[in-house]
Amino acid sequence: MKIICIGRNYREHARELNNPVPENPVFFLKPETALLRRNRPFHYPDFSQDIHYETEIVVRIGKAGKNIDLKDAHNYFDGVGIGLDLTARDIQQKAKEKGLPWTQAKGFDGAAPLSRFLPKNEFPELNDIRFHLNKNGETVQKGNTAEMIFPFCELISHISRFITLKPGDLIFTGTPAGVGAIRKGDCLEAYLENKRMLRCVVK
Ligand code: ZN
Repeated sequence: MKIICIGRNYREHARELNNPVPENPVFFLKPETALLRRNRPFHYPDFSQDIHYETEIVVRIGKAGKNIDLKDAHNYFDGVGIGLDLTARDIQQKAKEKGLPWTQAKGFDGAAPLSRFLPKNEFPELNDIRFHLNKNGETVQKGNTAEMIFPFCELISHISRFITLKPGDLIFTGTPAGVGAIRKGDCLEAYLENKRMLRCVVK
């Protein structure tokens, strides 16, 4: 199983981090050991002083595929959930300046808290899913899949040109604007529409 994460898939977020809007989806990987499921707490690691939440819709691949046509891509995912792409922004910033990979900044243990999945047919319109994150009861980040630069099918088609997708693979589809820091003691709660899907306490 692999975790593929999309960078810069929302214009406003690209802007807030001073990144150009990409022509093609930018993606990177997290290892399976980054996953944090069943609302388990996140333990703040000692190697970073600036860990940020990035709230992202996650799609689960349901069928193996390579070079998937855009028009068939909707057949290749079966579930929609929500997750946090936790990012050590201080480490990422140094890596960006030196042109180094992001693995340490994005792939550490616990860097991918993840909800359960809802069947995709429970969503009347996949290109109009609202989601938000509450931190300590206050909404800090809000998005809608309608604002994605590359919708789910374009991501699946593009990624599969490079990497064979397999059932159970996960795609974190990028974060909208409003990313911010977390601290020990914070309670993060992610919602799909108005349904609370994920709760993660920072320890
Ligand atoms: Zn992200």
